[in-house]
Amino acid sequence: MIMFLPVAEGYPRYLEDRHPRFTGRGLCGRLGWSRRTAASTLGGMITSLHTELRLADVETHLPGDDGYDDARTPWNRAVELRPAGVAFPRDAEEVCALVRAAAETGLRLAAMRTGHGVGPFVGVDLSDVFIVKTDHLTGVTIDPDRRIARIMSGTLWRDVVVAAAGFGLAVPHGSAGDVSAVGFLLGGGLSFYGRRHGVSANLVRSIEIVTADGELRHVDGVHAPELFWALRGGGSGLGIVVAVELELLPYADVYAGMLLWDRERAPEVVTAWARWTRDAPESATTSLRIMSFPPLPELPPFLSGRDLVVIDGVVLEEDERADEVLAELRRLSPEVDTFGRIPLAALLEVHMDPPQPTPAVTTHSMLAEFDEEAAAGFLELVGPGTRTPLMVAEVRHLGGAFARSTDDGGILSRVEGDYALHTVAVAPTPEAAEAGLAAGEALDARLASWATGRYAPTFTERRGRTFFSAEDSDELARIRAAIDPAGLFVGNHTV
Ligand SMILES: Cc1cc2nc3c(=O)[nH]c(=O)nc-3n(C[C@H](O)[C@H](O)[C@H](O)COP(=O)(O)OP(=O)(O)OC[C@H]3O[C@@H](n4cnc5c(N)ncnc54)[C@H](O)[C@@H]3O)c2cc1C
Repeated sequence: MIMFLPVAEGYPRYLEDRHPRFTGRGLCGRLGWSRRTAASTLGGMITSLHTELRLADVETHLPGDDGYDDARTPWNRAVELRPAGVAFPRDAEEVCALVRAAAETGLRLAAMRTGHGVGPFVGVDLSDVFIVKTDHLTGVTIDPDRRIARIMSGTLWRDVVVAAAGFGLAVPHGSAGDVSAVGFLLGGGLSFYGRRHGVSANLVRSIEIVTADGELRHVDGVHAPELFWALRGGGSGLGIVVAVELELLPYADVYAGMLLWDRERAPEVVTAWARWTRDAPESATTSLRIMSFPPLPELPPFLSGRDLVVIDGVVLEEDERADEVLAELRRLSPEVDTFGRIPLAALLEVHMDPPQPTPAVTTHSMLAEFDEEAAAGFLELVGPGTRTPLMVAEVRHLGGAFARSTDDGGILSRVEGDYALHTVAVAPTPEAAEAGLAAGEALDARLASWATGRYAPTFTERRGRTFFSAEDSDELARIRAAIDPAGLFVGNHTV
């Protein structure tokens, strides 16, 4: 729906200036070499890794290769990555070979699939890092009797949804079909099934991962349970995941859709939704957004050039009961009402996420509450009569099962905060990025009194945010140090 906009020359460098520089583990510091020696040796290490990978027949691209620019370009075009190289393993064996070769040569590795979650890499020096892209590790196998999907790590949610739907089963995916299931699950994952079924990572039953020693491990509640705990929410930078097994949900179709009004109606709609969410059943997971669309011929007339207020989501009920649940919102006479029973795959279109790579800047915080005062603060900055560079200012309703930990869950088995605040600005130029970030940060600041101080990893584009309790963060750091003592893997989030 949202159109691709070209990125201005020199743009991502501008973003680096706005983020605190992350130094990570520098090669010079680690090996005690002089910068000059390390610089010349880094080239040697890269050549040596490249040679080893060529011998192992792993597809790799180095700066200057024809394929390098395509390979290093993430979905979020506002972020420029300049890794030492990019590798595309075709199976678990190639991942093992890659990890061993990197460990031997002293280079580091960062796993990536689509680049939807690359924001935290802004300002990170990747000159000694090979990006491991899982694009070729795709495929889904459904076991309908056990109600389990085995998902290869490069598989996009869209393909998992379609495969499971073929057996009348659902998966706890996010709003966009072109995000990878594994990247989402390793950060916990907030789905439209979540108020009833919780954080998506709670449904992960096992993980196959190549760890820093180059071994492929099967990890679950019995085998390496500590690593299994860490991976479900704190999974960034612990290894290269090859596949996950995910429990499927017993839905053959879903009651879902959106209600849409002109932004002029936002005061009554936002206040009514805030009140409605207080008593909404756990079967209903919804989001409220103020959305601003540029006038574009590609957009349908009800969106093109308009400022809107939109409520969308899922009600996991029979039609009659779902209608009852939504009645209070429908009394506000939306201009568009698409709620109804839809095929599972159609849920991927309901949130109208951009269908193609997009340059964007985002902000996020978690709110304990979204009461009338908070709603008033939200409207003050993005309500009628305001001029905002934000394309989206969203409040997602969490709570319910999202807020409950499970005994056998991972480090992020629950999220702290009944609402997630999230903004997106399409940012093809430095000026647009500056304005978008400033507007998102102003909204965060306006609602700071309601913020929990915690963040959801999948929605967070900054390093150094707090996702877990101090105790859990220490435990995660301990597990990471034990499994990857040399710091071979670079995650998008710091532990
Ligand atoms: C348009 C849009 C809509 C979104 N909707 C939602 C939503 O509804 N709910 C929600 O919770 N999130 C949502 N997100 C956030 C998204 O889930 C995260 O950014 C997710 O991490 C993306 O995963 P990816 O693999 O596609 O992206 P990447 O940027 O390729 O990967 C993100 C990170 O995941 C890790 N990773 C990926 N693959 C592997 C692997 N094989 N092994 C080890 N680590 C790996 C790495 O740390 C990597 O840095 C959305 C993002 C966008 C841009």
